[in-house]
Amino acid sequence: MDRGALSSLLWFVIIGAFFYFMMRKGGCGGHGGHSHEGSEAGKTKDPVCGMEVDATVAAGSREHMGQTFYFCSSNCMEKFDKEPKAYMSSAKGSS
Ligand SMILES: [Zn+2]
Repeated sequence: MDRGALSSLLWFVIIGAFFYFMMRKGGCGGHGGHSHEGSEAGKTKDPVCGMEVDATVAAGSREHMGQTFYFCSSNCMEKFDKEPKAYMSSAKGSS
C-alpha cells in the first residue's frame, strides 16, 4: 500500500462527505427542520377547518384509513375524533 493513493482516497471521502451534507441541507430532505421558503415539504391540510398546517408544527395528528391528518389545534383534532367520516368525505367525493 502506498501513501499517495491512501491520502487521495481519504480526500475523496472527505470531499464526498462534505458534498453529501451540503446536498442534504439544501436539497429536498422531506423532513427539513425549518425552511421558510415556500416549500410544501411539511405542508398538509387540516381536514376540519381547511387550514394549511405544517406537519412539523401541527398540534397533533391522527391516522385514519391509512392516511395521516394533521391539525392546527387540539380543538380541530377533537372534532375529527368525534366524527372522522364527516371530514373524510369532504376530502374524497364518495357518497
Ligand atoms: Zn384546524
